[in-house]
Amino acid sequence: MVKKKFILWFKEISNTDVPKVGGKNASLGEMYSKLTKKGVPIPNGFAVTAQAYDYFVTTTGVKKEIKQILKTLNTHNLKNLQEHAKKVRQAILAAEFPEDLKEAIIKDYHKLSQEFKTKNVDVAVRSSATAEDLPDASFAGQQDTYLNIEGEKELLDACRRCMASLFTDRAISYRADKGFDHFKVKLSITVQKMVRSDLATSGVMFSIDTESGFRDAVLINSIYGLGEYIVQGMVNPDEYYVHKPTLAKGFAPIISKSLGRKGKKLVYDSKAKGNVKGLIVSKEDQHRFALTDKEVLQLAKWAVQIEDHYQKPMDMEWAQDGKTGKLFIVQARPETVRSQDDPNTLIEYKLRETGKVLTYGASVGNKIGQGKAHIIKDVRGIHSFKKGEVLVTEMTDPDWEPIMKIAGAIVTNSGGRTCHAAIISRELGIPCVVGTRNSTNKVRNGQNITVSCAEGEKGFIYNGLLKYDVKKTNLKTVAKSKTKVMMNIGNPEMAMLQSFIPNEGVGLAREEFIISNYIRIHPLALLNFSKVKDPKVRRIIEEHTAAYKNKPQFFVDKLAEGIARIAASFYPKDVIIRLSDFKSNEYASLIGGVQFEPVERNPMIGWRGASRYYSPKYLPAFILECRALVKVRKEMGLKNLKIMVPFCRTVEEGKKVLKIMAENGLKRGVDGLEVYVMCEIPSNVILADDFCKIFDGFSIGTNDLTQLALGVDRDSELVAHVYDERNEAVKELVRQVIRIAKKNKKKIGICGQAPSDFPDFAQFLVEEGIDSISLSPDTVIKTMIAIKQTEKKKGRKKKK
Ligand code: PEP
Ligand code: MG
Repeated sequence: MVKKKFILWFKEISNTDVPKVGGKNASLGEMYSKLTKKGVPIPNGFAVTAQAYDYFVTTTGVKKEIKQILKTLNTHNLKNLQEHAKKVRQAILAAEFPEDLKEAIIKDYHKLSQEFKTKNVDVAVRSSATAEDLPDASFAGQQDTYLNIEGEKELLDACRRCMASLFTDRAISYRADKGFDHFKVKLSITVQKMVRSDLATSGVMFSIDTESGFRDAVLINSIYGLGEYIVQGMVNPDEYYVHKPTLAKGFAPIISKSLGRKGKKLVYDSKAKGNVKGLIVSKEDQHRFALTDKEVLQLAKWAVQIEDHYQKPMDMEWAQDGKTGKLFIVQARPETVRSQDDPNTLIEYKLRETGKVLTYGASVGNKIGQGKAHIIKDVRGIHSFKKGEVLVTEMTDPDWEPIMKIAGAIVTNSGGRTCHAAIISRELGIPCVVGTRNSTNKVRNGQNITVSCAEGEKGFIYNGLLKYDVKKTNLKTVAKSKTKVMMNIGNPEMAMLQSFIPNEGVGLAREEFIISNYIRIHPLALLNFSKVKDPKVRRIIEEHTAAYKNKPQFFVDKLAEGIARIAASFYPKDVIIRLSDFKSNEYASLIGGVQFEPVERNPMIGWRGASRYYSPKYLPAFILECRALVKVRKEMGLKNLKIMVPFCRTVEEGKKVLKIMAENGLKRGVDGLEVYVMCEIPSNVILADDFCKIFDGFSIGTNDLTQLALGVDRDSELVAHVYDERNEAVKELVRQVIRIAKKNKKKIGICGQAPSDFPDFAQFLVEEGIDSISLSPDTVIKTMIAIKQTEKKKGRKKKK
């Protein structure tokens, strides 16, 4: 007779052992045996095998009993399902372990205890079903997990409960829905050394961006205490993105860091029900990041190693031991949603109109959904939910899944991007906004609402059924043009998604967008905080900057992150970031801005662009901008970042700015740094030869160039009818500067709005031989087609 294998240690298990030990154990075993030696720490443990489960249910007679019970199962009848499932579980819980199996489990439990030099080591006991975690059938949290188990009796009890959890109501109905045989799915158990993350931090991470499918970033979430609270959506975690290619080169590219609320944490308490209890996190801890940058980078490196090993995007859990401070990987499985996207199809959602924002939270995916709001606060009320309605609730758990499948969209009060509602919505492809705090109050039951996840990380709930477009493009049919087509990128949060649009990089990223959306505070108010008078402003500034070393550092870090996120999304293609170009009225509208800004009659032609940077009044703030750029290029290694100076009226101004930049770590030509200048003032064209001597190239700003060539205020409705980039005077200036740049062998591109709005203007630019055209992302495909046509015509002319 073949010897029964009840126990397999992680070191004996590999990925192909799913039938023997289930998906979770197979993955843990694979990592333990192949990756610990490469430095990825996995806590040791063993699997109680599927064969042990078989042996248990057969020798005790439980299997027969289960079969008998399930004969009359009807999953469509909730009451019937509940009764049958309960009977099955009771049968399992009532059965005694056969002696030989019991001995085997206990013997190896003591072996594990010895490894940690203790009598009864604390372990996590998890379910590892043989059909769980398949790439197309992953469902989070199907079977039970028991944490911080110590002692023989407790361990055996937990094992039995795991086995019984193969027959929870939801597991039974899930298997029935997916067509899995109840007896083919077996339950192996994971017994693994506990990581005391209740005393420290834990979280999840992905080696792919779960929202856009962007593959060059690792996404990490972290909370205090046990990781269970992330999935349960009890807390809003901190979130980090790390750029993989520059991490591999030895840089420290944390391209985004956002602070979560992390208001509660789950910790052990042997006296509490289920061994755990919730605690409130102190304000001080809430206001700082749960992980240090060093720890974030360390986790990201492991994520990459794990992905490299499996050769596919991965979904991982990590935990930090509070006793030792050490980080561990405690689980890994293939990512099952974004990695299945068709790379040749581009689907873009865009609102066509805007409406009243009722509330907002974190967006999941990038779609738009709408329908009648149905507020349900208790899972017992789910039966009244109708297909296509928008579910508005506090938070979901697996019991809500039957109605989540038929929802038009989902909105929750709590949770972050990796909570249950987010995971399931992503899997189902349903737009979802989590963590709104107040949606069940702000939305009325029965109210028509639109849920938009198409505007970046924030997801908005609008009143009414707003019109929107869904554009599907087969990228295989889009041929590349000779003229470089770049994009104007505003929102860093959309950059990863927009990187899938055919492009040759970013021709314009405006710093203003990042400052007004991420920083929101005037740089001089941060630099001169002690002089800020308004108490309300002081309070807001204190709140925003609590997690930072000092207030100017907040400006530097946030600006660097916004820029880095764009640079990383298009890496290694060129990304041109333009230095700040707010007008004084716009600067004044930043928090604390009024006190530091003059009131100008004509801000459009006033203290903006280059003239600010060397002015003693703004110089300290400009140096902060330089520090952010240095951080992105030198610390994060995003050398694809180029810099552009806006609104540079004279060559002398250009020289002054370049000098200050050089003094602050941004010397043109060093470390591949190129510096461009906007061509948007007639003087830039008239003296183009001279500007060529000090800059690497131009980007034509037709928005300002038209304003200044025709003498029309861009902002004035009264003369708006005269404003036209296609006016011959403007076109003549454009022609001239292209010619002069080419003669001087300098780069010449355009980032003004004209070619995005008028395909014939793009064609004119191609005729004139421009190097690159930077477009609004939503106009790329149509303009590319126009550009190709002109290139073809030009080619034919040349041949003749
Ligand atoms: C322009 O002037 O054309 C331009 C791109 O800059 P902005 O619109 O930001 O002034
Ligand atoms: Mg301009």
